[in-house]
Amino acid sequence: MKNQYMLDVLETVKKRNQGEPEFIQAVTEVFETIEPVIEARPDFVKAGILERIVEPERQIIFRVPWVDDNGKVQVNRGYRVHFNSAIVQYKGGIRLHPSVYSGIIKVLGFEQIFKNSLTTLPMGGAKGGSDFDPKGKSDGEVMRFCQSFMTELYRHIGADCDVPAGDIGTGAREIGYMFGQYKRLQNEFTGVLTGKGIPYGGSLARTQATGYGLCYFTDEMLKANGKSFAGQTVVISGSGNVAIYACEKATTLGAKVVAMSDSNGYIYDADGIKLDVVKQIKEVERGRIKEYADRVPGSVYTEGCKGIWTIKCDIALPCATQNEIDGESAEILVKNGCYAVAEGANMPSTPEAINTYLANGLLYGPAKAANAGGVATSGLEMSQNSQRLSWTFEEVDAKLHGIMKNIFASCDNAAKTYGMEGNYMAGANIAGFLKVAEAMKAQGCV
Ligand code: NDP
Repeated sequence: MKNQYMLDVLETVKKRNQGEPEFIQAVTEVFETIEPVIEARPDFVKAGILERIVEPERQIIFRVPWVDDNGKVQVNRGYRVHFNSAIVQYKGGIRLHPSVYSGIIKVLGFEQIFKNSLTTLPMGGAKGGSDFDPKGKSDGEVMRFCQSFMTELYRHIGADCDVPAGDIGTGAREIGYMFGQYKRLQNEFTGVLTGKGIPYGGSLARTQATGYGLCYFTDEMLKANGKSFAGQTVVISGSGNVAIYACEKATTLGAKVVAMSDSNGYIYDADGIKLDVVKQIKEVERGRIKEYADRVPGSVYTEGCKGIWTIKCDIALPCATQNEIDGESAEILVKNGCYAVAEGANMPSTPEAINTYLANGLLYGPAKAANAGGVATSGLEMSQNSQRLSWTFEEVDAKLHGIMKNIFASCDNAAKTYGMEGNYMAGANIAGFLKVAEAMKAQGCV
């Protein structure tokens, strides 16, 4: 990046956000790719769009006390960042994981601005979470935590203000407990959380949406480059919500998924992953992925997560967590003939990994475009709640498919317009940014 104005804004970001390297990494990536837009749009400079877009509208940090099964009081820290409401009310997930701190919530909120913009639905960027770890906790402990979390959060959210959803560690169980507490506190039903259970306002196909959407986006990217999923070998990291449904859709589209993982290690099954076994272990029993190797003869479990990227594949779908593919892993993927990486997880590739993909001509689908199907379907859940109607699985899935096709087309077109054909990361950043920047400018200095 050479533009002095942009370098100055980035310097301020670095000074203001010390100790939050992931946030600085995300802002730097966006800035590097939107440089031609800023050069062409002095009106955005005058309107201070960059200075404003990197600063959250507000951040809330709060105490979450709850009582464990031994009667002892535990305290976690809760977060919600309202990053940008230029294209209407805030929307973004809640992450429950011990690694959560203000920097992670900020980076996810920042990325959410562009992702939500790409969906074409009216949703601004937000994110929230806590350093609470649901793993190993009883249902009662998770419920008491979720109720306490919502007892503070409810003041800051609302169907026309901020609509949270799931993320790592926040699945249907946690959303249910939070929704129950919100309803009790407000004494009203509104679609204030998405990812709800089907009997109480959830949308069919929301569970599948991020994984399916990832494959719809990837399919478009492959087709635009004369390829397809059919007959291809795929490696998917993670075995949570996104990974499971990415595996399901990739398999339906004709690929063979040979590996999946969790935070302890990975399984390799040369015959193709038996997803019913993974679902039983992860969705029903909340067990560990290593149990797959005990149940499926011929499959192998290896301790440690990083090794999954040494498995030979055509297409890699990282669906676990941030920075899970570093430069070294990316080099190995390239050496083994992998030609496409599409991100189900948020920010799973380090900057070195991304440089390696681009330098070697890999097809690269960045998270903010490739995994936008989850929030897009959350948007569809909000529409159904407002209409007090429920659409069929097929209706929601068809809308999701259409949205993912549009997202790919926007990324492709924006990259071409700004002379970076085939660079879908630049295309996603530019397309997502332009809509928000125009809205911010139109609404004045707020
Ligand atoms: P889940 O909690 O359902 O699953 C996360 C999975 O990743 C688990 O299998 C977890 O294993 C595994 N994991 C965590 N850390 C590592 C690691 N270092 N190496 C390998 N595996 C690891 O979360 P989701 O599937 O919902 O989310 C996954 C990613 O997708 C996140 O980045 C999230 O932000 C992103 N995302 C999710 C959306 C959604 O709709 N759910 C929407 C858009 C993005 P373990 O069980 O051991 O912790």
